Amino acid sequence: MRIGLATDPRFRAHRAPGEHPERPARLEAIEGELEAAGLRARMVERSTREASRAQLERAHEGRYLDELERRLAGASEGGWLDDDTFYSAGSWEAALLAAGTVTELAQAVARRELDGALALVRPPGHHATARRAMGFCLINNVAVAAAGLVADGARVAIVDFDVHHGNGTQDIFFGDGRVLYCSSHQSPLYPGTGAVEERGEGRGRGATVNVPLPSGAGDEALLAAYDEVVLPAIERFRPDVLLASAGFDAHADDPLASLRVTERGFARLARRLRQACGAFVFTLEGGYDLGALGRSVAAVAGALLDEREPEREAPGVLRPVERAAIDRARASLADVPVPAP
Ligand code: ZN
Repeated sequence: MRIGLATDPRFRAHRAPGEHPERPARLEAIEGELEAAGLRARMVERSTREASRAQLERAHEGRYLDELERRLAGASEGGWLDDDTFYSAGSWEAALLAAGTVTELAQAVARRELDGALALVRPPGHHATARRAMGFCLINNVAVAAAGLVADGARVAIVDFDVHHGNGTQDIFFGDGRVLYCSSHQSPLYPGTGAVEERGEGRGRGATVNVPLPSGAGDEALLAAYDEVVLPAIERFRPDVLLASAGFDAHADDPLASLRVTERGFARLARRLRQACGAFVFTLEGGYDLGALGRSVAAVAGALLDEREPEREAPGVLRPVERAAIDRARASLADVPVPAP
């Protein structure tokens, strides 16, 4: 498998004025683990690139971009855009690089120069809406990349396995049937969106699929959510490219949430997603325990590089509350749009 990898030391210049879980050490932990496991040498290093204004405007309102640039570009000291979302000198450049790099990798994958890619970027993106920064996110990297692919005529599936619901991504494509947005997330949890009933509107009707999971759900519940809901939705939608919003805060050790996924669970999920669509980009979103984050990304990279088929495992045993959550979400499947003949 030809799997690209892109990261940049300039992502580390984005840092909070004080202690914050979304910190530069996250990328150092991941790179350290990839190198220690010998995985980095097996991947194709790709350069990073800043997004253009035209690329950003496919997912964000011009007025929001003007305001963000005015506050961030050339900022000599940091500050806060809301209670969670910080910026510093270097944040504007990092945000442009993150969105541009995911876009560039997505295009390389769409052209089949690569089978897949891993974008190790900061700041994360999936909470940023068309007009608002929130939840540590400034620019919605995956949405910018998806909107670029769609402009070239591609069908795109976004699969968001961060423990938080990607309200920004959902919002940007809610009325757009060319992008399938599927999210598994803990519920209730920040930002409070992502109910099963949120399924898109207008031309986007059915192209949003949410699988809220109860606190304590682990590998078996997560994989059942994919085997029974998300993967059948992808099969029905038939995307050209799959973009994963790859957050690792569903890990059992993560301090911000209370799912119980393991690094092996993330690897099993990655193998299924790779099998579901042979052109994919995994983009870093959350994940705040440094050890768990490094090991999980390395496990996913190993799974993406691996040529083997996903193992056929006996279905796991779920708690009744997990079984009920997945059964409820399965009702979304019938509405997922199929490609025009
Ligand atoms: Zn998250």
